[in-house]
Amino acid sequence: MAAEDGRKNIVIIGGGIIGCTSAYFLTRHPSYDPNKHKITLLEATKIAGGASGKAGGLLALWAYPSSIVPLSYLLHKQLSDEHGGEARWGYRTIHVGQVDCRGRALERKSESSVKGKDGEMDGGNGPTKVERNGEAHVSLQKRSKEAMAKLSAAGMPKELDWVAPECDPVYDEMGDPSTTAQVHPFQFTTAMAELAAEKGVDVRVGSSVTDIGYGKKGGVESVTYKDGKNGGKKETIPATDVVIAAGPWTQSVYPPAPIAALRAHSVTIRPSRPVSAFALFTHIKLPPKEKKTNGSKFFSRGQSEEIVNPEIYARPHNEVYACGEGDRLVPLPASTNLVECDESRCQDIVDHVSAISDELRDGEVTARQACYLPNVNAESGGPLVGPTGTKGLWIAAGHTCWGIQNGPATGKLISEFVFEGEGRSAKCRGLDPRNVL
Ligand SMILES: Cc1cc2nc3c(=O)[nH]c(=O)nc-3n(C[C@H](O)[C@H](O)[C@H](O)COP(=O)(O)OP(=O)(O)OC[C@H]3O[C@@H](n4cnc5c(N)ncnc54)[C@H](O)[C@@H]3O)c2cc1C
Repeated sequence: MAAEDGRKNIVIIGGGIIGCTSAYFLTRHPSYDPNKHKITLLEATKIAGGASGKAGGLLALWAYPSSIVPLSYLLHKQLSDEHGGEARWGYRTIHVGQVDCRGRALERKSESSVKGKDGEMDGGNGPTKVERNGEAHVSLQKRSKEAMAKLSAAGMPKELDWVAPECDPVYDEMGDPSTTAQVHPFQFTTAMAELAAEKGVDVRVGSSVTDIGYGKKGGVESVTYKDGKNGGKKETIPATDVVIAAGPWTQSVYPPAPIAALRAHSVTIRPSRPVSAFALFTHIKLPPKEKKTNGSKFFSRGQSEEIVNPEIYARPHNEVYACGEGDRLVPLPASTNLVECDESRCQDIVDHVSAISDELRDGEVTARQACYLPNVNAESGGPLVGPTGTKGLWIAAGHTCWGIQNGPATGKLISEFVFEGEGRSAKCRGLDPRNVL
């Protein structure tokens, strides 16, 4: 809480969507006075360098948890209206559907034709050969029971003309522009950081927090970080309030938090022509794997079909995003810039979406990337938003596969916790970190 003179030194750890929306809403809280309060955001590598820059960006009224989803959905709309989100971060309402279809057998394109442009490839440590075992395909769990309950057989919409008819697609509607929307996560997160900085937040990139200091009375007192701009020299700054928003890295600054990490790969494609605004959850039956002998290829008979479920999101400006399932093959590295991107997993995503769409097959792959999703290892699920039980120490982390959707509500609630001592805008007791600490 406040120091004796009422001044606050608020330190946010992490510049993903949660840290950046927290910074934004702290500066919009009625009690915030830039002459009295100091807000510092410490980001270890780059703003939106992790999942917040590599997510799909779907927003849905049927996302979870229901305690904050409606508030956050509304805040997304308000933020877009206020700051020109349509142009600035690609906010728009969309149709969402589940598409069940058959995939076509395809010739794999040559590596040179599918490589991303220089500087747009991500994850950077080269291909890693992986074994396909039980931990290699883990659902991101966006298709929850609640989401599936929204299915209604609607027939294939005529605007959805970029799924090949020979794949026999069956479309079930999950959302329409009254219930589903999207943002470009990287653009949204960086815009939040810029808007917070304009109101006085000191955003320090390249600042990796090593310790949270506690005073004799047990409350937070300081934060120590390695300053990348100063040769990694350690700096300690005073703190009355610390907001931990380090996503899957939360345990590295606060070990009691039960937050785990799940890796996921994704790609972006510039389609061969602009495609309509749909987000698709797919269920694709691939033909048996092709084999090659003596230069001629054949399809082995009798093998069971493989089912794959890439999520495909059309975005403004002629971009399509697609992601696959998660895996636990490579543990969380020390920072976002050390995340291993397995090129073969990215290629699988490209092949799977190409199997149902000419526009994607004939398009240009513009990014291949990987990141880690923050999951809460507790029955209550995530996220954790609120007090830890230590004076001045707050958590906003563990947003699983809905952190983009739930970022604004989380930021608003954090601003209320810090300035008022409780979250008022939503009934969020179920998210109280003390339930699981
Ligand atoms: C493939 C995929 C698709 C997704 N699609 C969607 C979607 O469509 N809709 C949706 O709502 N959500 C989606 N998500 C989920 C969403 O991306 C995450 O829930 C959200 O990005 C988590 O944000 P965060 O800020 O908590 O974590 P992160 O984005 O991981 O940010 C944490 C930040 O903390 C920094 N950090 C870590 N340790 C330190 C330290 N010691 N000091 C300083 N900084 C530190 C990191 O560098 C990082 O920048 C998706 C996720 C994945 C993986």
